[in-house]
Amino acid sequence: MREQQGLTLTRRHLLKGVVGGAAGLVLGASRRVSAAAAQAVSGTTVPGNSAVQRLADNLFVLQLPGEANLVLQTSANGVVLVDGGSAKVADALMKMIGELSRGGQVQTLFNTHWHPEQTGLNEALGKAGTTIISHENTRLWLSTDITWSWNGQQFKRLPKVAQPNKTFYSTGQLDSGIRYGYIPDAAHTDGDMYVYFPTQNVLVVGDAVSNQGWPVVDWQTGGWIGGIAGATQRLQTLANADTRIVPARGAVMNLAELKAQATMYATIYDRLTTLLNKGRGPSEAVAAKPTKEFDAQMGNPDEFVRRAFESLWAYLSPDA
Ligand SMILES: [Zn+2]
Repeated sequence: MREQQGLTLTRRHLLKGVVGGAAGLVLGASRRVSAAAAQAVSGTTVPGNSAVQRLADNLFVLQLPGEANLVLQTSANGVVLVDGGSAKVADALMKMIGELSRGGQVQTLFNTHWHPEQTGLNEALGKAGTTIISHENTRLWLSTDITWSWNGQQFKRLPKVAQPNKTFYSTGQLDSGIRYGYIPDAAHTDGDMYVYFPTQNVLVVGDAVSNQGWPVVDWQTGGWIGGIAGATQRLQTLANADTRIVPARGAVMNLAELKAQATMYATIYDRLTTLLNKGRGPSEAVAAKPTKEFDAQMGNPDEFVRRAFESLWAYLSPDA
């Protein structure tokens, strides 16, 4: 995006500090949380609906098979929704939302980034008058056609009514106290945002953090491996030991798990930049197995390593 040039120096500068500090800070962090800790973060499943996890009386995570997580808060003033699933499950989701909120209207929808797995309800809710909030970069991506260079996948721009109708650059707050903000590291895209529910101490982070295998590094729209290392570090400052952290993929996490991820991605970032500085390319990076001690837990890394390495090229020469 247009602001990429201006941000480049800041991000690089920041990352140096982030990665340098990470090594010392997180050495003691355990990669695995105890079963008790996992239980504490997971909440309970709503009886009769295994796709709904209750985090608090009025706060739920919706996890339909193959879909990204949604977070839903009900209140007398209506529903607040973080992300909207893909368009093919829009009807099913609207039904679930209606049941959980006893017919409440969705007042606010956040798009944590532009991907179709997050924006499938935008059109229906936009037409219904919902306030759709995103970072300005996310709105820009949703108002243009996008093709991923690595596999040719195409994404059509959304109609105007489906685009975010309230955007921000840094942070914001709803009247109810819910806070939100930009994640400027560009972990997944350059429009990543978080939403924090202070009453329930729940932090929703979208795809800036993955808790289900290796993440997608969408460098086409600004994401990069340094951003993943930076964001997993930065988001720790918004959480405490009791915060439940909801990623777009996988189970609800706690701070210890986020710290472990930050350590891992700092290591991987370090190795990939070393390979880059030696003049290696993406295939050589894959062959060097820069994630080897994490693969047993995380799965086959080849696609991730390739994208992550390409993201260094894209990031360091944005006009190339
Ligand atoms: Zn995504």
